[in-house]
Amino acid sequence: MIEALEQVRGAYSMLVLDDHEMIGARDPFGFRPLVLGKLRDSVILASETCALDLVRAEYVREVEPGEVVVVTQTGVRSFMPFAPMPHKRCVFEYVYFSRPDSRLFGRNVYDVRKQHGRVLARECPADADVVVPVPDSGVPAAIGYAQESGLPFEMGLIRSHYVGRTFIEPQEAIRHFGVRIKFNPVTAVLNNRRVVLVEDSLVRGTTLRKVIPMLRQAGAREVHMRIAAPPTRYSCFYGIDTPTRSELLASHYSVEEIRRFITADSIGYLSWEGLYSFTDKRESFCDACFTGDYPVKVSQQPKARQLPLFEPAVRR
Ligand code: SF4
Repeated sequence: MIEALEQVRGAYSMLVLDDHEMIGARDPFGFRPLVLGKLRDSVILASETCALDLVRAEYVREVEPGEVVVVTQTGVRSFMPFAPMPHKRCVFEYVYFSRPDSRLFGRNVYDVRKQHGRVLARECPADADVVVPVPDSGVPAAIGYAQESGLPFEMGLIRSHYVGRTFIEPQEAIRHFGVRIKFNPVTAVLNNRRVVLVEDSLVRGTTLRKVIPMLRQAGAREVHMRIAAPPTRYSCFYGIDTPTRSELLASHYSVEEIRRFITADSIGYLSWEGLYSFTDKRESFCDACFTGDYPVKVSQQPKARQLPLFEPAVRR
């Protein structure tokens, strides 16, 4: 297994199991998480700590980047068989992928997202009456924004939990239908209010382009969009099915054009410094989807095609 993995370059956290042993391996860059837990005499390997909570297991530690752990009846043996690489943990795990109830790379995901919201409130204040998250992933950042700004936090948009994540839904028609059945605005919260709408990140912008008019229809006087991450300009090639560059709004359009596309009254993104405000080790993170600085060379990157932002009829 080690000989095979020596030939693999990129992101993986994997587990192999047979009747006698369980082997866990994490790539030398450490893109994706992998944790060790304990439940009485049993050893658990999981990609997120929330899985340990589910079975009331105890968190022991992260499997280190480049580490292979072999679990048998006699215990856990650890190997570091690969050439060391600079650590490049995925910073987008903090922004969106991981669950907020997980502990990741030594920090609580919920705390990091809330911190992003606090910094966002300082960097991009808004003259508004209420802070509303795009649920669920925008909730911790919106709480942070509300606490820092002193504005009330309200659930002005309710999410149905019977549909999946629109961000990773591959077919456009399903995605669009999904937005309509996924969110419903709360008129009692929004009516005649100036709203700060907080989202964790902005990828295609198609969800917000539908959600913001919904808020206005429910009575919102103004909608100020705040994004708790910098503009997402590049695709991920390390295990996450993100859209191609052609579909990433920020890869082709200015912040002002994006504001017009999603129909917000104003828009503000978290700064680069804000994204890393939770750590002084930013060099140990991958942020290629914001910068295009890929830690492992991408050999066959599809050519980006600029898609038209506005239909002629709606271009202003
Ligand atoms: S490109 Fe973005 S999503 Fe992919 S591993 Fe790097 S930071 Fe994470």
